[in-house]
Amino acid sequence: MVKENLQEVEKKIEEACRRAGRDRSEVTLIAVSKTKPVSMLQEAYSAGIREFGENKVQEMMDKYDVLPDDIHWHMIGHLQRNKVKYLMGKAALIHSVDSLRLAEEISAQSVRHQVVTDILIEVNIAGEETKFGTDREEAISLVEEASRLPGIHICGLMTIAPFVENPEDNRTYFRQIRELSVDIAAKKIDNVDMRILSMGMTGDYEVAIEEGATMVRVGTGIFGARDYGAGA
Ligand SMILES: *Cc1c(COP(=O)(O)O)cnc(C)c1O
Repeated sequence: MVKENLQEVEKKIEEACRRAGRDRSEVTLIAVSKTKPVSMLQEAYSAGIREFGENKVQEMMDKYDVLPDDIHWHMIGHLQRNKVKYLMGKAALIHSVDSLRLAEEISAQSVRHQVVTDILIEVNIAGEETKFGTDREEAISLVEEASRLPGIHICGLMTIAPFVENPEDNRTYFRQIRELSVDIAAKKIDNVDMRILSMGMTGDYEVAIEEGATMVRVGTGIFGARDYGAGA
């Protein structure tokens, strides 16, 4: 089932790229495997997937230990500072940096472990109370401040758009975050590039691609619905 789902997602990505006049190679598909068993990740791996997204540090570490080491692991969930150390050298990209304190901890741990960690700044573009992430103005100052820290490299922005029935409803948010990334890129801040725009999930990744996403994070569309029920 994972293989068939992936084919379907791949087809939709290609179509969205075509509509937007973009090359397929500009968009990276991240398979969001949170809550899913290793066997399903292996299916995706066999189908060629090398980018996996997880939102819990412990779960990512458990999967990291048993799966092939050519996988790139993406931390996409809210991150507590005391867990940062476990990700060093293991997370290819941390998408969810939403405060200077978190950036400082990633910097300090990266220096200690002698690695450079790639990060994205998470922007709560719709200003939803329930979501993490900075607002537009904060994002700019956070990029400026975090850019001076050693051991980290800011590669772009990430957003989680509102949950909507009609993906068209998120188009303006995707456009706004793309504009924000262009504005930040124009500042030519040292140690900052805005080449990554991580936006779009199962419900809205095609619209996100049309609006410039370079990474889409697809879970349900690949692995099926998640079961958070007790005892599941
Ligand atoms: C769970 C999750 C996704 C994937 O969501 P789906 O709707 O299942 O595709 C993407 N991004 C983040 C940050 C997530 O937590």
